[in-house]
Amino acid sequence: IHREMAEENGGIRWRLVLVASPLQGHMTPMLQLGTYLHSKGFSITIAHPEFNPPNSLNHPDFVFLPLPDNISSPGKFTSFLGFLQALNDNCKPHLREHLVQIINAQKEKSEKESVVIIHDNLMVFGGSVAGDLGLPSIIMHSSSAAFFPAYKIIPQLHKDGRFPVHDPLMQEIVPELDPFRYKDLPFIDLPMQDALDSVNMIIPNTSPSAFIWNTLQFLEPSALTRIRQQYQVPIFSIGPLHKIAPTPSTSFLKEDTSCITWLDKQEPKSVLYVSLGSVANMDEKVATEIAWGLANSNQPFLWVVRPGSVRGFEWIEFLPEGLVDEMKGRGLIVKWAPQKEVLAHNAVGGFWSHCGWNSTLESVCEGVPMLCQPFGVDQLLNARYLSYVWKMGIEIVMERREIEGVIRRVLVDKEGEEMRQRGMEIQENVKLALSHGGSSQNSLIDLVDFILSL
Ligand code: UDP
Repeated sequence: IHREMAEENGGIRWRLVLVASPLQGHMTPMLQLGTYLHSKGFSITIAHPEFNPPNSLNHPDFVFLPLPDNISSPGKFTSFLGFLQALNDNCKPHLREHLVQIINAQKEKSEKESVVIIHDNLMVFGGSVAGDLGLPSIIMHSSSAAFFPAYKIIPQLHKDGRFPVHDPLMQEIVPELDPFRYKDLPFIDLPMQDALDSVNMIIPNTSPSAFIWNTLQFLEPSALTRIRQQYQVPIFSIGPLHKIAPTPSTSFLKEDTSCITWLDKQEPKSVLYVSLGSVANMDEKVATEIAWGLANSNQPFLWVVRPGSVRGFEWIEFLPEGLVDEMKGRGLIVKWAPQKEVLAHNAVGGFWSHCGWNSTLESVCEGVPMLCQPFGVDQLLNARYLSYVWKMGIEIVMERREIEGVIRRVLVDKEGEEMRQRGMEIQENVKLALSHGGSSQNSLIDLVDFILSL
C-alpha cells in the first residue's frame, strides 16, 4: 500500500533509521517495531552500538549500521549513567556522519528517500543529530508510559523538598502520579545527584515529532492521558509489540530450549518460572533465599540464573550441596530461556519476576500471575501496577518462609486462581486492542500515516 503511496507522493520513499540501545529489553522491541514498519513498506536501517549487536542474519531485510562506541568492556563503568553517557557521546559522530552521507547521496539521485529517525529513549543523541540535520525524529519507549511522568517529575519534587524521599512520605501516594507511591519512584535507590543526573540525561532535550510507547491504552489510561496533556505531538501506544511483530530470537544469550521439553512433562499450571531479566544482579544471600524458598515450596520450578548475575560467582556455584539434592527432580535451572515460549506454555502457573516492562507485558498477555521482586528503575512502578491496579501479582518479601508462602498463594490457593481469571480478562482486552478497530491497531495505522505525512 505504502509503495503505492510513495508513487503518489512523486516517487518519494521512506528510510527509517532506528537508533537502538544495546540493552536486551530495549533492542527486542526496537527490532519488532522495525519488523512491523518494514511490513508496511518502509526501508529500515538499524543503527546500533557495537556493544551487544543484534544478529543481522535474523533480519535480512534490514540494513545494519554498527556505531563505534569505544566500550571495550562495560565493566569499566562504575555507574549505569557513565555507561549511557559514553554510549551517547561515542556513537553520536558516527550516526551524524552516516546521515550526512545519505543526505548528500540523495542530491544526485532521481528517486528520493525521506529519512526519519526513530530513536530509543536512552539513545538521546539520535534526537540531537536529527535536530542538527533538520530531520524529523520520533522517540521510542520500551518501558511503561507511567515511567515517563514518574521520572520527569523528579526535578520538581526535588525543588519542593519531596526528593530525596524521607520516611513518613515513602508509603504515601504521589498526588501527581496516583496510584504510585513515593517508594515506587524511579532512581530512588541512587545517591540524589546521580538520580537527578539520570533524569536530566533521559528527559528529551529536543522536541520530537512524536512519541511511541510499547504499551496498551487500556492498561495505562491515566499515564497516557498525563503525557498527552503535556505534549502537543502525537503519542502512539502500539503494544504489545511481541504479539504484533514476532521476530526470530533477539536474545544476546543463547536460549536453552531443553526447558520446553521439560515443561511438556509437567502438569498444567503447576510450574513456577523464575527469571530476573537481563540486567539485575544480586548477592549470594538473596540468591540463596530464593533457592531455599523454591526448594521448600514443593512446587516444580524453572529458574533462569543468568551467568554472572550472582555477584562473585560464574553461575550456580553459590548453591549449597544439600540444596541441590533437595531441588533435584522438581526443578530445572538454565542460563537463559526462550521466555515468551515459556510463558505461553500451559504448564506455567506463575512467574517470579523483577518486573521489567517486557517481562511484565509478556506475562500479562499470557494471563500468567506474577510474584514481583522489583530491583529499581521502572520496575517498582510495574510491580505496583501488577499488585494494586491489575491485581495480577503479589510483591515478594525476600525471606525464605515468606517466599514459600507466596509461591503457594499463586500456584495452589484460590488467590492464584483469581489472578488467572484477571489474566484471562486482560488477555481478552489485549486481543481486542490488536483486532480491527482496536486501540493498538488504530495507533499503528496512525503511526504509519503520520510517518508518511512528515
Ligand atoms: N528474556 C529471555 N530469556 C530469559 C530472560 C529474559 O528471553 O531467560 C527476555 C524477556 O523475554 C524480555 C527481556 O529478556 O523480553 C527482558 O526485558 P525486561 O524489560 O523484562 O527486563 P530487563 O532485562 O530490561 O531488566
